[in-house]
Amino acid sequence: MQAKSVVMCDLETFKIDLKGMKTDEQSLEFDLNDEFFKVLDASEVNGGALHVSVSIRKASGFYELLFHTEGTVTVPCDLCLDDMEQPIMTDNRLVAKLGTETNTEDDDVVIVDENEGMLDTSWLIYEFVALAIPIKHVHAPGKCNSAMTQKLEELSGAVRSSEEAAKEIDPRWEALKKLKV
Ligand SMILES: [Zn+2]
Repeated sequence: MQAKSVVMCDLETFKIDLKGMKTDEQSLEFDLNDEFFKVLDASEVNGGALHVSVSIRKASGFYELLFHTEGTVTVPCDLCLDDMEQPIMTDNRLVAKLGTETNTEDDDVVIVDENEGMLDTSWLIYEFVALAIPIKHVHAPGKCNSAMTQKLEELSGAVRSSEEAAKEIDPRWEALKKLKV
């Protein structure tokens, strides 16, 4: 079990009361921190600091939500697996309708329980952030954990040359032996 930190990010904050909207337009601001990703149990993102602006427009029969998310996330580097900061900026549009769980054929429309009228945006925002992370994300040149990249390179080299290993001693193994004390 993970030890729970004292200050927990309150996901209730991310619930938008669509049904209770008093005006046709509304703006909300959210701040995402490391706790947000921890509480969501987000496996792809280790943490982050982002600001989210949401503008909600109430139309006849639906709600249009525009999200602007900007900041950085902490993700493992592809090359050395150490944490790195990845800048993120993403704009997303979402249409929500009040209804029942059964009519959810349309992927682009989020159905909000008409009795409750609350749209929980926490996971939606997480998905916007996760989708905005470039597939390849690495440290700036020279900023990688060099000990780790070296070992990983040696390991992949070892896999490739496993068939030849019996025939000759790979000089990289000698180098690795020297590293291990
Ligand atoms: Zn790296």
